[in-house]
Amino acid sequence: MSTRTPSEPGSHPGGDWIPLSVPHLGGNEGRYIQECLDTNWVSSVGPFVDRFEQCLAERVGATRAVATCNGTAALHVALLVAGVEVEDEVLVSDLTFIAPANAVRYIGAWPVFIDAEPRSWQMDPGRIADFLDGACDYQDGVLRNKATSRRVRAILPVHVLGNCVDMDPILEIARKYGLVVVEDATENLGATYKGRPAGRLGDIACFSFNGNKIITTGGGGMIVTDNPNWAERARYLTTQAKDDPVEYIHKNIGFNYRLTNIQAAMGCAQMERLKEHVDVKRRIAHRYETAFQSIRGITPMRVAEDVFCTYWMYTVLIDAEVCGIDSREALRRLKEHKIQTRPLWQPLHLSPAHAESPSTPCAVAERLYRDGLSLPCSVGLTEADQDRVIDAVAALAS
Ligand SMILES: *Cc1c(COP(=O)(O)O)cnc(C)c1O
Repeated sequence: MSTRTPSEPGSHPGGDWIPLSVPHLGGNEGRYIQECLDTNWVSSVGPFVDRFEQCLAERVGATRAVATCNGTAALHVALLVAGVEVEDEVLVSDLTFIAPANAVRYIGAWPVFIDAEPRSWQMDPGRIADFLDGACDYQDGVLRNKATSRRVRAILPVHVLGNCVDMDPILEIARKYGLVVVEDATENLGATYKGRPAGRLGDIACFSFNGNKIITTGGGGMIVTDNPNWAERARYLTTQAKDDPVEYIHKNIGFNYRLTNIQAAMGCAQMERLKEHVDVKRRIAHRYETAFQSIRGITPMRVAEDVFCTYWMYTVLIDAEVCGIDSREALRRLKEHKIQTRPLWQPLHLSPAHAESPSTPCAVAERLYRDGLSLPCSVGLTEADQDRVIDAVAALAS
């Protein structure tokens, strides 16, 4: 989901565009970035990088954090250090932004897509169990997909839209089969599951600080884990795998996946506002929720009682039978009101880019894709603008 405010001069007279979700830079960003300029620490090492890593590790309650240039790079390296290899298979949420599946393919491994749960829209642990117990063979400590004969190595649950995947049953089945769990927590920094922070629910986790995320560094990412060896390996791989501090000796092929000090400076300032951003997102969600309660045909995402949701991207389902229009027509009509909305992601089992990857049946994801529409929910959204959105949505459904 891009963060750009659409500008279509002339075509929409009167009133201003309400963007889907744009960054909120109200704090110390400028001051900290100026500090980078003043001290000449502008590139890929520097005090703000260390500080940002510490700050994030502390917030998540993990012992190690390694900053990266974006969330996709974080996922790539997290999968590598977790031991995913060429021709392995990794169970990935079907309903997600494409990045985690791409990261699996960067390694030459294969995603296996798992359907969403119909209430929370998150990866369905029941479908994981169906696949692992039913479609795989477990012999001598190695789990293989019977259909492809490939080794199943990891589960990559993606917490989408600020909500949390139901992790306990996933951790349990992962232990049963010796799989690692790599959390994609790029969309739910600040969320908790049964009191535990997102990002420390699996063996290793990834965050993103892209422009549309709950905090941003322009572009950026982070790997967090309690495993010191994995963290050290992640730092090594993200910094070109340099084996000698002076001589240019590299025993492995590494990556230039570093975050710059300037980006990290922005990250430190944004972290100071994280709680406020989460509070505002939750307030926005609550106002939508209250307003939509009485509107038939508009169904918000459900959040389990033991989940603290950040409502990163506020999204509803539009029931075409009840409303008389489908989600795409709703998108067009809201656009006429200068309100930017966005469908959910094409389910990955339908993605041409992943046509060769195996999948389990994903009917729920298809329905969520058909009906889902994300509504404006920037941290800076005013109540007046939100009321405009609410009125326009109410008008659709009547
Ligand atoms: C944003 C996002 C990413 C990737 O983050 P980038 O920083 O843009 O590379 C990965 N997974 C999900 C689910 C995301 O929403």
